[in-house]
Amino acid sequence: MSDFAGFHDPAERLAGQPLPAPDKTVYGRRVATHRGSIKSVRSLTYDTYELVVERGNGGQPALNARAGQYAALKVAGLDKPRSYSFARAPECEAAGQSTFFIRLVPNGQFSGWLFEKDRTGEEIVLSGPLGGFGLDPSSDRMLCVAGGSGMSAIFSILEHACNERVARDALFFYGARTSKDLYCLDELAEIGKRWHPKHSFEFIPVLSEEPEDSGWDGARGFVTDYMKKNCLDNGRIDLAQCKAYFCGPPPMIDSGIRVLADAGMSGSCIFYDKFEDASSPAPVIDNTKCVLCDECLLVKPTDNCIIEVSKLIRNSGPGPDRYEVVSPSETSGLYYNTLYIDEEECIRCYACVDACPANAISPDYDKTPKTLRGVAARGIT
Ligand SMILES: Cc1cc2nc3c(=O)[nH]c(=O)nc-3n(C[C@H](O)[C@H](O)[C@H](O)COP(=O)(O)OP(=O)(O)OC[C@H]3O[C@@H](n4cnc5c(N)ncnc54)[C@H](O)[C@@H]3O)c2cc1C
Ligand code: SF4
Ligand code: SF4
Repeated sequence: MSDFAGFHDPAERLAGQPLPAPDKTVYGRRVATHRGSIKSVRSLTYDTYELVVERGNGGQPALNARAGQYAALKVAGLDKPRSYSFARAPECEAAGQSTFFIRLVPNGQFSGWLFEKDRTGEEIVLSGPLGGFGLDPSSDRMLCVAGGSGMSAIFSILEHACNERVARDALFFYGARTSKDLYCLDELAEIGKRWHPKHSFEFIPVLSEEPEDSGWDGARGFVTDYMKKNCLDNGRIDLAQCKAYFCGPPPMIDSGIRVLADAGMSGSCIFYDKFEDASSPAPVIDNTKCVLCDECLLVKPTDNCIIEVSKLIRNSGPGPDRYEVVSPSETSGLYYNTLYIDEEECIRCYACVDACPANAISPDYDKTPKTLRGVAARGIT
């Protein structure tokens, strides 16, 4: 098979169909990388810290982030960055600063590093903004659900919506284990007071492991079960007039989406930001769907996660695939229409999945990457 067998341009492949257009909420918000330092670390609970990063070492460069987006943070001594959602509305941040809520993960490298000792003043590199999660422009009721440090993006969205005086009702269910895991209560009460006067704002913490004799008289159970029982099953909320926002652990979000889908809510009204980690699958690129727009390359937070390759060699056994990177000195320098995600380098931020207008990137695609010259298999490019 010649290297160029089967080559055809994207317009030909999509014969007669309009080319998918980039999402304008992601387009134009290219990832910028800023060196900076840790301005402060403050304990929110026994296992969650507020981290404030100062970008640009005093230069205060703008970030142009929207509430709901996230950044990749990298510190010395750790091989890869990690993704963290902005935890304040951008307009509430001091110039050049970004705030994050970070929860300690057992055996976690980044969170373990942060919790180990006082890191104030240490160097940090921030790449962002990333992702397409954020406030939609409708006037529908906002149904927000977060768990653990998923408070971050939802808090940021609600704070921004409050500042913008959006004329919408908001209902926020927050899932935590016990009352010791609750934080931002005063700040949320303040948002409630400042919310649009003609609309309601309600915050409902739901505890799953609070001791029966603790005196807690609030909601109990798993947050998505509670939402179902107390808002959907009794008809309290009309989902036809609602937009849902989820943020936090993937199992909570999957369960919440199932509950809403079973109740008839359309997937297009559900927005979410899943806190994937190293155990989540890396996305795979289907090059036969790619329209060569470069959006994924413009939002990737690390240099080598998505690579232009001239040759892909799929391993028959376990172990990573091999590839030849397009390099003017070592290959012809031609672009071979083949992008490849190196799962060893990928940090599972899924920014490329959000940015791709052609649905060419997904963690659900078969691990064998498809190229324009046929399905990549052992030794075939
Ligand atoms: C878009 C996005 C936004 C996020 N926002 C936030 C946020 O605002 N706040 C927050 O606290 N977190 C957030 N996260 C999660 C965050 O990026 C990290 O995954 C989390 O902090 C753990 O990082 P770590 O370095 O401490 O742990 P890691 O060292 O990355 O380990 C994480 C977990 O994965 C397991 N693990 C590691 N490697 C593997 C492997 N190869 N196979 C199987 N399991 C493995 C570890 O045992 C551990 O339990 C976000 C994630 C995403 C994708
Ligand atoms: S390949 Fe995609 S998901 Fe992985 S780090 Fe790069 S942009 Fe993020
Ligand atoms: S894979 Fe990358 S270059 Fe191809 S269509 Fe998607 S975003 Fe554009």
